[in-house]
Amino acid sequence: MTSTVAGTATFDSLDPRTGSVVGSHPVHSAEDVAAAVSRATEAARWWRGIGFSGRRERLLDWKKVLVRRLDEIAGVVAAETGKPLDDARLELVLAVEHVDWAARHAERTLGRRRVSSGLLGANQAATLGYEPLGVVGVIGPWNYPVFTPMGSIAYALAAGNTVVFKPSELTPGVGELLARTLRTAVPEKTLVEVVTGFGETGAALCRAGVGKIAFTGSTATGKRVMAACAETLTPVLIECGGKDALIVDASADLEAAADAAVWGGMSNAGQTCVGVERVYVVETVAEEFLAQVVAKARGLRAGRDFGPMTMASQADVVRRHVRDALSRGGRAVVGGEDSVDGTSVGPVVIVDVPEDSCAVTEETFGPLVVVNRVADAAEAVRRANATGYGLGASVFSKDGERLAESLRCGMVSVNGVLAFAGIPALPFGGVGDSGFGRIHGADGLREFSRAQAIARQRFTLPVPVTSFRRTAAHMRTMIALVKARHGR
Ligand code: NDP
Repeated sequence: MTSTVAGTATFDSLDPRTGSVVGSHPVHSAEDVAAAVSRATEAARWWRGIGFSGRRERLLDWKKVLVRRLDEIAGVVAAETGKPLDDARLELVLAVEHVDWAARHAERTLGRRRVSSGLLGANQAATLGYEPLGVVGVIGPWNYPVFTPMGSIAYALAAGNTVVFKPSELTPGVGELLARTLRTAVPEKTLVEVVTGFGETGAALCRAGVGKIAFTGSTATGKRVMAACAETLTPVLIECGGKDALIVDASADLEAAADAAVWGGMSNAGQTCVGVERVYVVETVAEEFLAQVVAKARGLRAGRDFGPMTMASQADVVRRHVRDALSRGGRAVVGGEDSVDGTSVGPVVIVDVPEDSCAVTEETFGPLVVVNRVADAAEAVRRANATGYGLGASVFSKDGERLAESLRCGMVSVNGVLAFAGIPALPFGGVGDSGFGRIHGADGLREFSRAQAIARQRFTLPVPVTSFRRTAAHMRTMIALVKARHGR
């Protein structure tokens, strides 16, 4: 609901479990966004100036504040998303690991270093360094309101940028609290400016002339963000949704695979971009695997093991997918259409769903897992790859790494699920409709930097090929050298 307080429009964030108001936040206008970018630009000069070691020290201080206030932040995450407190705590633990890694690895990854100057540049000293972009605009989703934007914020800061952060309209309180904790650790300057509001506020950030936009959200909004950024040639990092598959090969540990399918598909009520939405199980082990999935999923309760749909309208999407899968011959082995009760959605497992059903082709973002049987692992890979999305995947097999390499996606867990998200050195991001660019790891640090090449002449070459002093004899010498080196 929007209201006006002292001439400023505000909106409320609500607790999806109760509908009660968690907090009230300003609807920032394009002018407000421009002012935030201007303040962040000023702060960026100081932040760049203190160098890698100064930034490392301050980011590690921030990490300590995040850990000390973990329960307080987790409480706001739980209130604004409806997820269980322990899930919110887990999200923070993962985020803290990323802040730590980014702080400790920025200099090693981005600091200026000598590179080979090659034969033609034998008289040059060549160095490569990665410079900050200035201000990075971060637009985040609501499902993991700490972990997900932190994948951009921590890495952008460690690379020497400041940030203007537009949290989802559903989780503005989390965004503001994160920025306050950073101000506690680094009182000299505001390194993360938070702008709150709706899609228009995010759109204004795209047009505000920042060095890069890091967007996480749906594919449809990602396209709008990219179009808006194109107007000013602002580079973009696009992290969108997925339709991740879990492959169960004949050699799989079926208990572990069933556990992963249920946790990967149902935790956070399925509202996970790298959640398990499709399972392809090899026929010979399908019955035993399914029996374990059913036993585990039937024990779960919405409201106890996971929260309600954070965004109420998502329940309609889940209902549509369940209905479509069942009407096309799918068989519900856990739950069914009745599992959707207002914004509370219980666990649903449907088997033998046609591959062109929307439950297989579209992102569900709810606690629905489709399980389809396949003849062998090769067919599982073919079906897993038959989607426009390409974010993550899981493989349970003794031959997991080979199968993983044949999957068209950004990240794969072998004999586990979502494992890559907690390993800071591994890049995170997708292909196709899941977007492009990478957060996390060394690639994530470089994503928020621009490579700068410097070639310093150490002495004059006896063969001046890049000068009007060049003669035919000089060229003959050079061509002879090249033939000797590359032509044999
Ligand atoms: P949305 O695409 O609806 O929104 C994402 C963010 O973009 C929000 O902050 C939103 O603001 C903002 N926004 C909306 N319209 C515009 C616009 N025109 N210009 C700029 N910004 C805009 O996604 P959700 O918040 O619903 O998040 C869920 C989606 O995110 C899922 O598809 C999920 O898969 C994906 N996701 C991807 C991840 C990844 O790393 N690949 C991780 C987590 C989620 P407002 O909320 O105010 O509308």
